[in-house]
Amino acid sequence: MSLVEIQDRIVKAETEAGRGPGSTELIAVSKVQPNERVHAVLEQGHRVFGENKVQEAAGKWPEFRETFDGVTVHLLGPLQTNKARQAMELFEVIHSLDRPKLASTLARLAQEMGKCPDLFIQVNTGEEPQKAGVLPKDADGFVNDCRNLDLPIKGLMCIPPVDEEPSLHFALLAKIAERNGLKGLSMGMSSDFEKAVSFGATHVRVGSAIFGARDYG
Ligand SMILES: *Cc1c(COP(=O)(O)O)cnc(C)c1O
Repeated sequence: MSLVEIQDRIVKAETEAGRGPGSTELIAVSKVQPNERVHAVLEQGHRVFGENKVQEAAGKWPEFRETFDGVTVHLLGPLQTNKARQAMELFEVIHSLDRPKLASTLARLAQEMGKCPDLFIQVNTGEEPQKAGVLPKDADGFVNDCRNLDLPIKGLMCIPPVDEEPSLHFALLAKIAERNGLKGLSMGMSSDFEKAVSFGATHVRVGSAIFGARDYG
């Protein structure tokens, strides 16, 4: 599929949901993709990208930013505290704030650096033991703690369990965001972004549908 097709499908989903066209940000998830494919999407004018790993992003985005203006890169994958400083330098937005230790590290660095990326708190809506994110029952308290640290919390993020209907998870995330007065909802990937839009996603994270399958080989 092409970038334009995905953009069209998002607008269609927004319209069907009674939302304004363009109210959803499309994050093109470029992790693991060859640089030629990323370059091609930049050439088409797209400027918002997502990566999973600090190291991988450090190896490609400084260079792309020299060629293309106005690029925004979002960190979607888990963040270790010892890479927090580098992440704060590389990314405009971090979607994987998922624990108190990371929150306090980001807060300390934000003080020191005088700036902080926009932050999304990851919620483990499926309560999967192997998955990152705060549990739904702990979300309100964690949002509050992060606000007390003066962190710029913009919204919530989730990755629903692969084998479950994502709608329940999107609805749950939207509910937690609403009762905490948070506007941002980072949810929806290649297989379910239209559904996420219908549940109010402000950011969809679409990788393989834009770039093709990832080759981990
Ligand atoms: C890889 C990834 C995506 C994109 O997945 P696709 O199925 O390729 O669209 C979105 N969000 C996160 C957190 C990811 O790790």
